[in-house]
Amino acid sequence: MTKPQPLIDNFGRQVTYVRLSVTDRCDFRCVYCMAEEMTFLPKAQVLSLEEMAVLARNLVACGVTKIRLTGGEPLVRPGVVELVRTLSALPGLQELCMTTNGGRLQDLAQPLKDAGLHRLNISLDSLDAERFHALTRTGRLGRVLAGIQAAQDAGFERTKLNAVILRGRNEDEALPLVRFALAHRLDLSFIEEMPLGVITEHDRAEAFISSDELRAMIRREFTLEAAAENTGGPSRYYRVPGHPVRIGFISPHSHNFCGDCNRVRITTEGRLLLCLGNEHAVDLRAALRDGPQQPEAVDGRVQAALQAAMAIKPERHDFTLDDEPQILRFMNATGG
Ligand code: SAM
Ligand code: SF4
Repeated sequence: MTKPQPLIDNFGRQVTYVRLSVTDRCDFRCVYCMAEEMTFLPKAQVLSLEEMAVLARNLVACGVTKIRLTGGEPLVRPGVVELVRTLSALPGLQELCMTTNGGRLQDLAQPLKDAGLHRLNISLDSLDAERFHALTRTGRLGRVLAGIQAAQDAGFERTKLNAVILRGRNEDEALPLVRFALAHRLDLSFIEEMPLGVITEHDRAEAFISSDELRAMIRREFTLEAAAENTGGPSRYYRVPGHPVRIGFISPHSHNFCGDCNRVRITTEGRLLLCLGNEHAVDLRAALRDGPQQPEAVDGRVQAALQAAMAIKPERHDFTLDDEPQILRFMNATGG
């Protein structure tokens, strides 16, 4: 069969980074991410862990060097540690990361480290137990803080906290979160809320706080110096002099980062989403299930689907605050 080709879109951008959603399920119900009552996918529609491994092998064969496991909450998927072990052994995969709500890390941080996971992002929007519970609807702050400690004890380095700040709900948490990150030598990224899915608890436009506003808030207490480095992601990084950590701002509204986009997402159902803010997608599950599987080999149908996808990767997304949501899928179905 023909040799796998690099994944290059019509705008000359090469895809080297894939965010793979291992489940749409979650043990939290964060107010900006999910509705209170959610219907999750039936099992038959969800990729098996073996199918995910086949996809990963095919992606790495095409030059993908970084995979992030996400969800939903990746740690609620049974067998996720085994998946990490399989993927971390793929020659050519330089970075295997995970984004988690941290609620199960107390038990799983060490097994994940032993299985070869390189780095963790842990979501944390509040350091106040009651408010944390209100924002996540089911989460317990104490468990997440213990999970963060367990990740550090297991030897994970450059762990990053992710925080979504909403006006009227947790804007006074920005400074405490920076203090916490500095004290625990953790990187921290603030993410502007994105209009994915219809939620009911707040008006996204009213709750929106721009990265500029957050930086001004943080500068009341800390000096923020723009950092030269970039991790190949949409974050803009700053440093607080005297501290080894980075404070990042992911600003899909106020700073469009599409020009150097190197990433795609794969949903739990095997839809390859070409852009966070557009519906352009290719069905990889059909390519996987349409014929005999060759778990160890590069698969011609999957390769063809990946190349076809490159032709439809949109140039950019455009989130607007007054005309939303254009995207009806929730973040948990998108693979955050
Ligand atoms: N459950 C894991 C977690 O919470 O870290 C991984 C999946 S979650 C969808 C990934 C990230 O997306 C989290 O940091 C979460 O805060 C963020 N997120 C969810 N919905 C969002 C939205 N509508 N806008 C911006 N960020 C969102
Ligand atoms: Fe679950 Fe993560 Fe969404 Fe919160 S942000 S509901 S933890 S998937």
